[in-house]
Amino acid sequence: MTNVRGFKRGGVSTVSRIHYHSEPIENAFLPMNALLLLRENQFSVEAKPVVSEGQEVKEGQLVARGYGKNSSHVHSPIPGIVRRIGKTVTPDGYETTSIVISLEGSFSVLGKRPERYLWRSLNKTDISHIIQDKGLMRVSTGEPLHQIISDCSKRDGIIIAVNALEMDQYRRVEEEIMLRRINDVVDACAIAARMVKPDRIVFMIDTDFPKAQIPVIMLAAAQTELEISVERFQRRFPQDLPRQIAIALGLKDDSSLCILEPSTLVVLHDAIVSNKPHIEQYVYIGGGAMKAPVILKARIGTTIGDLIEECGGFSGQPDRICINDPYRGLAAADLDVPLTRSTRAVLALTKHETKPASERPCNRCGNCLRACPEGLHPYLLNKLLLADKIEEAFAAGLGRCTFCGACAYTCWSRIPLVERFKSVCLKDKSR
Ligand code: SF4
Ligand code: SF4
Repeated sequence: MTNVRGFKRGGVSTVSRIHYHSEPIENAFLPMNALLLLRENQFSVEAKPVVSEGQEVKEGQLVARGYGKNSSHVHSPIPGIVRRIGKTVTPDGYETTSIVISLEGSFSVLGKRPERYLWRSLNKTDISHIIQDKGLMRVSTGEPLHQIISDCSKRDGIIIAVNALEMDQYRRVEEEIMLRRINDVVDACAIAARMVKPDRIVFMIDTDFPKAQIPVIMLAAAQTELEISVERFQRRFPQDLPRQIAIALGLKDDSSLCILEPSTLVVLHDAIVSNKPHIEQYVYIGGGAMKAPVILKARIGTTIGDLIEECGGFSGQPDRICINDPYRGLAAADLDVPLTRSTRAVLALTKHETKPASERPCNRCGNCLRACPEGLHPYLLNKLLLADKIEEAFAAGLGRCTFCGACAYTCWSRIPLVERFKSVCLKDKSR
């Protein structure tokens, strides 16, 4: 590991990081009510409830069953009573069935020393069943992990890329997991490797990641008899786009990549080694309207209001509460939005950080063009959409837009480029 790799095109430079004081990660208080969404994102298929209102459920009990592709099982994060099964609108704007569980009864997982199973005695079919049964999700995308692993296991020449890169100035979840649970991360890599038989395993770390930790990663890998390499990357947003990662790693395309983050790997580890369903998650709570950033391990379904309160509440007036990152513009309408299996950060941002301003006409500065990792011309796409020339916008590459948000972030005229692109593409998909 010598060179620092970079993403070849586009993106936003995020050099000045918000200070984070690394401390042991605490478990968040259990929520009095957990709100579970049965669809993780607008492209997934809703799980079907297998409990009814008034029913008592145990911690970790299956409450909704996933069916088919893009669907995953949902488990109760707390013991309690099913209070309501109804509809909820998510911050993404799509509607999903949801289940509300009120805390009651005794715990079957919490406070107990986790069992440790010898996963090496499990065969591929056993592991695959556990991944599916425990409702594991890839934390960065909200896709069912069993589907990702199953797709990769059918292809040759797979490269497992452990993406520990933090993309913006705030988040530290992946780095902290690398610092605190590296043996579990490496063990989970070995589990994934048994399933997909990769040609290579690459750990992608930020240039700011402590260099002293690299021998620790290598030692953990050697103890697991896993051959890995560690590659350092310059920090830049976005760093989770498969095509960009493939190019940066010297591959022709992303078809051989199996991208997993440390946060996903520890969920995999806990499911296989400790028989735990995906009922909790590491989440960074920060932003200028909070006193200091904190990482908590919190139960799925906890509201972001409860998490913010646990971190001492707001220290200033938030202008916007962002879920996951400040660039893609996913804003929580209120504090009742629940933590899901794809929430890694909650950012309470002040006006100073969001710099609100009204939309102005495009001045053709070209910032969006330079920021676009896909090489698109966002100002042109916007112009075509405003003129209702949707077919022409698709012909100009709109379909390749990943909604990364880099163009909108750099636009001085505050044109809501990514919202516009996303709404047109989603309408086109649903036709
Ligand atoms: S949101 Fe789309 S158009 Fe804008 S920078 Fe990202 S890929 Fe390019
Ligand atoms: S960044 Fe904004 S103002 Fe500049 S060219 Fe792009 S759309 Fe126009």
